[in-house]
Amino acid sequence: MMASAIRLINRNILRPRTGQQYLAFSSVIHVKTAGLRAGIALPEKVKIVEVGPRDGLQNEKTVVPTETKINLINMLSESGLPAIEATSFVSPKWVPQMADQVEVMQGISKKPGVSYPVLTPNLKGFQAAVKAGASEVAIFGAASELFSKKNINCSVEESLQRFDDVMRAAKEAAVPVRGYVSCVVGCPYEGKVAPEKVAYVAKRLYSMGCYEISLGDTIGVGTPGSMTEMLEAVSKEVPVSALAVHCHDTYGQALANILVALQMGISVVDSSVAGLGGCPYAQGASGNVATEDVVYMLHGLGIQTGVDLQKLMDAGAFICRTLNRKTSSKVAQATCKL
Ligand SMILES: [Zn+2]
Repeated sequence: MMASAIRLINRNILRPRTGQQYLAFSSVIHVKTAGLRAGIALPEKVKIVEVGPRDGLQNEKTVVPTETKINLINMLSESGLPAIEATSFVSPKWVPQMADQVEVMQGISKKPGVSYPVLTPNLKGFQAAVKAGASEVAIFGAASELFSKKNINCSVEESLQRFDDVMRAAKEAAVPVRGYVSCVVGCPYEGKVAPEKVAYVAKRLYSMGCYEISLGDTIGVGTPGSMTEMLEAVSKEVPVSALAVHCHDTYGQALANILVALQMGISVVDSSVAGLGGCPYAQGASGNVATEDVVYMLHGLGIQTGVDLQKLMDAGAFICRTLNRKTSSKVAQATCKL
């Protein structure tokens, strides 16, 4: 009896921990230590803006059935995420993947307390979005002249002016508007982007009435060095409480870049479940940072997100299974039960 008890103990000691057990690891770190680690202040809470159903799926090659999109958004809502970018009210000619925007907006089960912003590139898109029940929208500007020219065939300034009528209509309808700035550290055409230019575009969007400015490293070339430089310039023009970061993991720097943003007081982070989305400028490269990995890191730092990591991973597994795609989340790969 004694011998078998010892064998049992030994077996427990020797058995390697499974990925599932490590998952719990990330959430048991003492919450009290949040806010101050190694003398560096961190936010106690972080709001995650899930961009998978829009930014992520938009860059997936296969057209995703409407029902799949609705199921994905509903599963993400159940995981406790506070904001889920649901779709984009662009012309289906530009983005066929988002042609079912009305069906998606009307088909999802909106959870009280969760916001479902949608992208609206112009007044027509804004009106259609509101009609379909959107209560928050997003507009975008690039920090790179060449990127703006190549993508929308106008200067950065002209692109911002085009949003005047959207901003006016949003104000009248009391619809909050989020502003995106793309190419904040690098551009596929221009190379390095000047931090002052990013600060200028961010300030313009903020003074136009955007309540939050999401700074996007669209091609994922930023490092903690270039992120810090850019964030220092932007935070001189826009309060950090109104800033968010949107990091792509193309060069594997996203989590490090998010961490420096947190250390600078930013407490809103965009991410995409399963790392959905690719990079249109670098074939085979990874897209948005995976929400699972962001949540794992934040919980490990004792920062609250309100997100149930297991439920989030279920949503990630669902969409990867449906798209027959491998997850880009390191956390999901590590905890896979295969
Ligand atoms: Zn993105």
